[in-house]
Amino acid sequence: MSLETIVANIDKRLLIDGAWRPAVSRRTFEVQDPSTQQVLCVVADAGVEDALAALDAASERQASWRQTPPRQRGDILRRAYEIITDRTEDLALLMTLESGKPQSEARSEVAYAAEFFRWFSEEAVRIGGGYATSPDGSGRIVTMRQPVGPCLLITPWNFPLAMGTRKIGPAVAAGCTMVIKPAEQTPLSTLALASILMEAGLPAGVLNVITTSEPSVAFEPLIGNQAVRKLSFTGSTPVGQHLLRLGADNVIRTSLELGGNAPFLVFEDTDIDVAVDGAMLAKMRNAGQSCIAANRFLVHASVVDDFASRLAERMGRLQVGRGTRPEVQVGPLIDAQARTKVAALVAEAVDHGARVLAGGRSLPGDGHFYEPTVLTGVPEAARLTTTEIFGPVAPISTFETEEEAIRGANATQYGLVAYLYTNDLNRAIRVSERIETGMVGINQGIVSNAAAPFGGIKQSGLGREGGSEGVNEFLETKYLALSAPT
Ligand code: NAP
Repeated sequence: MSLETIVANIDKRLLIDGAWRPAVSRRTFEVQDPSTQQVLCVVADAGVEDALAALDAASERQASWRQTPPRQRGDILRRAYEIITDRTEDLALLMTLESGKPQSEARSEVAYAAEFFRWFSEEAVRIGGGYATSPDGSGRIVTMRQPVGPCLLITPWNFPLAMGTRKIGPAVAAGCTMVIKPAEQTPLSTLALASILMEAGLPAGVLNVITTSEPSVAFEPLIGNQAVRKLSFTGSTPVGQHLLRLGADNVIRTSLELGGNAPFLVFEDTDIDVAVDGAMLAKMRNAGQSCIAANRFLVHASVVDDFASRLAERMGRLQVGRGTRPEVQVGPLIDAQARTKVAALVAEAVDHGARVLAGGRSLPGDGHFYEPTVLTGVPEAARLTTTEIFGPVAPISTFETEEEAIRGANATQYGLVAYLYTNDLNRAIRVSERIETGMVGINQGIVSNAAAPFGGIKQSGLGREGGSEGVNEFLETKYLALSAPT
């Protein structure tokens, strides 16, 4: 399919109670290709009246949806998994156009996204309860798990398809209805996903989609609405903190998948080639615009020169450009502001004495491209080490002892993921136990897996997505107190 047809085929209106319709105000906003800054299309720009209509639909459908047999809910997810998989090429191209990521990465994201539907189609029929005798024998403790109720789902632009399926999958499995709001830059993947779910048999009103250019005006008010029982948000830490505060009065269940500042530890006993392979994956997925991107490389002083020169050589060879070209490995940053931020962080580190081994410059042209960059000798004072970079920049500093490595890794408010490279299993376990993150990649540059609990601690979030934990986020436990049978 041509690029134009891919975009033309998407319904760009709001999905409310099973019907596609424009915003009440008839307003629209533009979606741009970050590789060219060309406008791809316009989509409906919802106001608060549209968002409330979507929430009304979700609330009304909740009672009937929770009664549907779990197998039926699982089968819908399974059919959606099949459709997504069959349409991998079209969905990948759509994602490349709106987010800029290279097509090979977009294909991997389609597979990853689909896998959440397959996983949760299997979880839907395994939502159990409990039966126990009370300790003194006088009673029985029965527990049942029930859908939490209507949910608000908010997703970011960096993984537009997978962040949607990672929330919609468990909500459908648990029997919750929902209103989803995708990021302003990348609404098209979510709109495509909603169509697929309708095609797979999802009843009207279970999933409602609100696209808006003014989330604080159009969507935020829903968080205070008493019909809402759950907020699941993926995005930046400051916005997550703000939404958590807003939800406090309404005491809504909240899951937050927030920012990260992942340390990547390279010990002296590791195989440097394996560590460099892992570093390329951990750093460069989506041009570094990933919450689990390695943000700081802490390398034992005895191997730092070897590691840094090999990493710089690999980074320097990467092909940067528009992701629709098959040879491209690194796409643009999402917008001008993102590139300005990355350039400023690099400039400040260099001012503080960091040395550029590769890259270090913005690239000319219409897109927001930045060279894959390696810096060594990055001092602790540089903001590069304390800020989520969200760009293709690898700052390297050194440590002498394991203790120093752990202290350095934990010296952040974030706690999403850490990577460690060592051939000593004892050390891997010892260090993992002391690292303050929700996930640790041991000799692995990728931790994402639909069957595993993804999530962070500290200011990286609350709750887990994926694994059996993922569906728990959308369930409440109810306890029945019974007398012992006579
Ligand atoms: P963001 O600015 O926080 O936006 C995330 C989402 O929240 C977008 O849909 C955004 O809408 C919406 N939003 C912003 N303000 C809102 C408000 N007042 N009320 C309701 N919704 C609001 O984050 P981003 O720049 O899109 O994404 C990058 C961040 O996400 C990074 O920090 C990254 O680490 C994090 N992330 C975390 C994970 C994880 O699993 N932990 C995964 C992916 C990304 P608009 O687009 O319209 O602003």
